[in-house]
Amino acid sequence: MVDIIIMKKEASDENIESVVKKVKNFGFDVIVARGTEKTIIGIIGDTRELSEENFIPMPGVVETIGIIKGYKLVSREFKPQDTSVVVDGISIDSKHLVIAAGPCSVEGKEQMIRTAEFVKNCGAKIIRGGAYKPRTSPYSFSGLGKEGLEILEEIKNKIGIPVITEVLAPEDVKIVGRVADILQIGARNMYNYRLLEAVGESGKPVMLKRGFQATINEFLSCAEYMLKEGNSNVILCERGIRTFDTEFTRNCLDLNAVPVLKKETHLPVFVDPSHGTGKRDLVIPMSRAAVAAGADGLIIEVHPEPEKALSDGFQSLTFNLFENLIKEIKPFAELMGRSI
Ligand code: PEP
Ligand code: MN
Repeated sequence: MVDIIIMKKEASDENIESVVKKVKNFGFDVIVARGTEKTIIGIIGDTRELSEENFIPMPGVVETIGIIKGYKLVSREFKPQDTSVVVDGISIDSKHLVIAAGPCSVEGKEQMIRTAEFVKNCGAKIIRGGAYKPRTSPYSFSGLGKEGLEILEEIKNKIGIPVITEVLAPEDVKIVGRVADILQIGARNMYNYRLLEAVGESGKPVMLKRGFQATINEFLSCAEYMLKEGNSNVILCERGIRTFDTEFTRNCLDLNAVPVLKKETHLPVFVDPSHGTGKRDLVIPMSRAAVAAGADGLIIEVHPEPEKALSDGFQSLTFNLFENLIKEIKPFAELMGRSI
């Protein structure tokens, strides 16, 4: 099995080209990542039958790697340097701590304007808000749909802040993508392979949230679907998994996942302590912990009047609490060498 071919620093363009040609002759597609130290050739497809003997003797080849995991393009073996996802001039990477904040759902224009102005003044770089809401019960508020998208578009232009919002179905990628700077794929849709492919094809920045019951291997394999379609603007988001305690927390925020993901993949990693805990008073302490664990960003639910929110009010921060959150995480961000 050969999934990755590593070429020497000194390998010439011709050396690289002949390896690429040989791989293609076997019927595979390739992605070439040229680094300063080495060039890495990723082979796309079922490579079980491909033997290293075909490549090792070729000039410029250092080694070949076979990957038994479900992913390769997202792995650090394929790309050792961190990926920086740039959204509207904002870099999401290991030098910054990017905060996305806003209500769970877009409920109206005034709610969004007030929230966007407030969180932006506090230092948030991205506004969140769902226009299409996947809800546990079909009788719960499921979002304003197109009207919600129009509100998000207005906020974006008026206040000058990029937008992250969820896309639920492959056929909605175009319409949501016209407004969203970052498409969000929710936990419930992590395994929706048609959606992953459609978002992959769109090339738009995307935040993939971890499914409630997903292992880290499954999470990364789902991200791989988008990279395989040529979209490497993928941000991963740990948002809590199901364990057995539902009395004190809604989910168990798996902060192990942060250093594991940072080691295993070059993609940026966000943490969502709002859904990860489901409790307003746990959001600030777990945000501090997420930053200390090495997160590249946080996504936080904030509402002008959480008690009146149409979804997730119990875990949404008030404006005051959001201001406190920023104050409290600043020293942790500094310690980690990140600017907010
Ligand atoms: C959300 O961000 O409001 C949301 C529904 O998140 P998740 O998909 O993580 O449950
Ligand atoms: Mn929510």
